[in-house]
Amino acid sequence: FHSLRPFVPLPPPSQPLSLPQYVLSLIRSSSTPTTGDTTFAVDATNAGTLSYSQFISQIHSLAHSLRKNYSLSQNDVAFILSPPSLHVPLLYFALMSLGIVVSPANPLSSELEIAHQVQLCKPVIAFATLKTSSKLPSLKLGTVLLDSPEFLTFLTQHDVDNDFINRVHVSQHDTAAVLYSSGTTGRVKGVMLSHRNLIALIAGFYHIRHFPQERREPHPVSFFTVPLFHVFGFFMLARAFSMGQSVVFTERFEFEGMLRAIEKYRITYMPVSPPLVVALSKSDLTKKYDLSSLLLLGCGGAPLGKEVVERFKEKFPAVELVQGYGLTETGGGATRVIGPEEAARYGTVGRLAENMEAKIVDPVTGEALPPGQRGELWLRGPTVMKGYVGDENATAETLDSEGWLKTGDICYFDSEGFLYVVDRLKELIKYKAYQVPPAELEHLLHSHPEIADAAVIPYPDEEAGQIPMAYVVRNPGSSITKSQVMDFIAKQVAPYKKIRRVAFVNSIPKSPAGKILRRELVNHSLSGGLSK
Ligand code: AMP
Repeated sequence: FHSLRPFVPLPPPSQPLSLPQYVLSLIRSSSTPTTGDTTFAVDATNAGTLSYSQFISQIHSLAHSLRKNYSLSQNDVAFILSPPSLHVPLLYFALMSLGIVVSPANPLSSELEIAHQVQLCKPVIAFATLKTSSKLPSLKLGTVLLDSPEFLTFLTQHDVDNDFINRVHVSQHDTAAVLYSSGTTGRVKGVMLSHRNLIALIAGFYHIRHFPQERREPHPVSFFTVPLFHVFGFFMLARAFSMGQSVVFTERFEFEGMLRAIEKYRITYMPVSPPLVVALSKSDLTKKYDLSSLLLLGCGGAPLGKEVVERFKEKFPAVELVQGYGLTETGGGATRVIGPEEAARYGTVGRLAENMEAKIVDPVTGEALPPGQRGELWLRGPTVMKGYVGDENATAETLDSEGWLKTGDICYFDSEGFLYVVDRLKELIKYKAYQVPPAELEHLLHSHPEIADAAVIPYPDEEAGQIPMAYVVRNPGSSITKSQVMDFIAKQVAPYKKIRRVAFVNSIPKSPAGKILRRELVNHSLSGGLSK
């Protein structure tokens, strides 16, 4: 299947060009309706604001200061562990403009999780807050504290000219970011996205901005309910910047705080994951606030149920709710819904994004299937990742020699090119659209002296989408309880990865090759067939 959207030309691949250089060139072009005074970002926690001109001059100042004060080389990796703040987009753009790879992680990650990520991406420097820095191992060039007075001086070097970034030569094929995903199987891996991957993504969004269906009035202001370290927030930030839009985020997401921000900042658009759509359609708090500025919600990251959509539409008839689909491995959105006509189709995640190709493949025979038939979705296009950092085997299992990315999702296309996601072939659990890799929790469960064997599967949950559920085989004589199992894990992982349901069994069903038969466990958990 080829994209039905018009082809979007990209810069010649051999031209040295970093994502920040590309985005800044879009901002300078007359078609991005920005003046220097236009607000780029607001931190609703403390009402801190950055205008476009401040943001651009601080990117230059920060890049210049980092180069002057640290012996950083191109393709070095910088690990970022921070809650959302105005410093985060500044860091992303300053570092990428120097050809430094940014690798942001969830600030709630445990030390164990961070150690694994650090081992994967091998950073030379970290950027953290006083609070998150204690979880970091020591690195060659140390940790820079974003809440220190020193960092503030980095942002205000007045002697830096605003063409400095344009003089740095960065190959489009160099890695711009390493984001984390467990892919189709196993533990967390580092997804390498090149400058070209991200340029292609932004070029696509930029191209469709003139489509009559794309609303341009009023001035778009988005509230970020999605984290900046996840691919969804990461690319939405670059997208907003390149289009002259304004973004609002808070240090700690909280539902009523979001409603307050919608009213205060006249938010027009929100990127969301399904649990937020559930919360908006159920909560009575929404009546306390003026949400009339809201025009559009773009929902992705996990499946959105039909009843949820219906409830939402009934409550907010003036707000368009569209789904998008993508993976960290595709640099974000691989499909789009454009305009009210496409948005009115229930259940689809849209049509293939510009320049993207797809195949639906029979998971057993490997044969490509026609429209209407379900199989594994394979994707190919300029936004598909370079590979997993330092893991050639996982890369080869996911990306074939022709550049096809195996998504691990069961999907079908209808005859008009709309894609529907129906199931997940891969192991991944999505708790509130956050990735929970079962293999990681199984690994921890196996380390418990009273546990003989274990398997972790998704269990459906209305609020979270899915919760991690553990099937546990106790050692003979062990009387470990369900809550002890849950506590054991909770102490070692970020809160969203906690095991929230446990069943004790005599054995874990496995294939002759020793692979956990997850589907069997899922079916049993749903039918209540295994002993609790
Ligand atoms: P991530 O890399 O965290 O963005 O996770 C990507 C995975 O999330 C996909 O492979 C899907 O399993 C799931 N996903 C993302 N968007 C959707 C959607 N709109 N509907 C269903 N599943 C989705």
